[in-house]
Amino acid sequence: MQELKQIIPLGTTDLFYLVAVILFILGIKNLSKPKTARRGNFLSAVGMLIGVVVTLLDRQIVEYDIILIGLACSATLGILMAKTVPMTSMPQMVALLNGFGGISSFIIAVSEYVFKGADLINTGWIDFTTLILSTLIGMVTFSGSLIAALKLQEWISGKPVLYPLQKTLNALMGLSVVVLAVLIYLSLSDASFDLAAKENADLYYYILSGLAFILGITLVIPIGGADMPVVVSLLNSYSGIAVAMTGFVLKNNALVVVGSLVGASGIILTNIMCKAMNRSLLNVLFGGFGAGPAGVDAREITGTVKSISPDEAAMILDVAEKVIIVPGYGMAVSQAQHVVKKLTDYLTKKGTSVKFAVHPVAGRMPGHMNVLLAEAGVEYDLLYDMEINDEFPTTDVTIVIGANDVVNPAAKDNPASPIYGMPVLNAELSRTVLVLKRSMNPGFAGIENELFYKDNTMMVFGDAKKTIEGFITALQELDS
Ligand code: NDP
Repeated sequence: MQELKQIIPLGTTDLFYLVAVILFILGIKNLSKPKTARRGNFLSAVGMLIGVVVTLLDRQIVEYDIILIGLACSATLGILMAKTVPMTSMPQMVALLNGFGGISSFIIAVSEYVFKGADLINTGWIDFTTLILSTLIGMVTFSGSLIAALKLQEWISGKPVLYPLQKTLNALMGLSVVVLAVLIYLSLSDASFDLAAKENADLYYYILSGLAFILGITLVIPIGGADMPVVVSLLNSYSGIAVAMTGFVLKNNALVVVGSLVGASGIILTNIMCKAMNRSLLNVLFGGFGAGPAGVDAREITGTVKSISPDEAAMILDVAEKVIIVPGYGMAVSQAQHVVKKLTDYLTKKGTSVKFAVHPVAGRMPGHMNVLLAEAGVEYDLLYDMEINDEFPTTDVTIVIGANDVVNPAAKDNPASPIYGMPVLNAELSRTVLVLKRSMNPGFAGIENELFYKDNTMMVFGDAKKTIEGFITALQELDS
């Protein structure tokens, strides 16, 4: 072990931590743009590697051969998960990884409690408070993330589970946690501290941990499956706070800084997602969105639905000069991104201008569409967010690929609609709208879409991937 110590010269641990922290900050900065996101991911991963290895060596926790074995095992597992988990299942994988972060903070907190015992309060109340918060937030993040992952995977019902006195019971549990924390403190600081007092403190501590586990479940089950990405982002922020608390407990600066970074970026992302859906965080957490029946949109829709074949749609595309593609969740389901790229290349070669309108909450997780399109090799310069809205009136054809809510005009002009006020893409203003979906089924919000009944809208029913393949074949025939 002495040899190990020499690998990291004395006093340089904090320097390594500083390098890791700088890499995390650069990583987050790079992650904010699709073009630099891969670099951001890489920089953060290197920062994490430095942080973990330096800690293990510095604290002389394990020999470096064990570190190498650990690295090999975890890298294999990571590569396997990244390669085998489909893009549509990414949200649940993120939820699961988030849960691992929470349980790590919890385990560290428990071990500190077990090892330090009464010493915890000898140094004042700060160590004790951070340990309790680390225990609580770590466990709530763990059980909450597990429920989120199960809902997203549809292994349990995605519907909000609502029962009488739900909020009151949650508030009572929260209050009990505070009472238990006080009891633990009193037992530990009991002047006549003896074995019985220690046993009492232990009992209260384990009850508090159990309550935190239940609280994580009861806080997440009332939230609908499709709102889970927002919840996961919020829990991610919690896990960051738990890590920062753990940093205070362990007196580890790197953990405090990194935890704070994760906590802050998680809450910023949560806020961005809520804004893009025009819903408050309270509405997401307590609104029970998705519990009501589908079609709660009070306004009656007039007009008729016109359906055309891929061949007919190709004729419209053949003469278009300007095309905007609006991808949505259905593109992810049908894994149509590669044929979308093929269609884009084909049209561009013919001299047609093709742009992509990517709504901030299209799909089921932030950046969902960007990731899929990047995977297929679509150039970043073709991707626009809401700023493209002014261009729809001068567009010949808008192709809506498995998107629904993000192009629903009711968000703009129907105050009775559940999505009223959500910023949406003005697809209906283009000359012709081609909507690719399998049926007239609603999207995530469970409401009808007036766009499908507009005079200038043509539905092309079927799986998006097959439909676009049909477009390409028909266009090739028209050009031959
Ligand atoms: P929607 O969920 O509104 O609609 C998706 C559409 O895709 C459905 O109408 C479905 O119709 C169609 N579809 C499904 N499978 C296929 C397929 N194989 N081929 C063709 N079409 C298919 O998606 P949007 O992207 O428009 O909106 C996202 C929604 O999710 C928003 O309401 C947003 O608020 C919400 N949300 C987004 C989050 C995010 O971070 N991105 C997080 C939380 C919620 P059909 O079944 O008829 O084919």
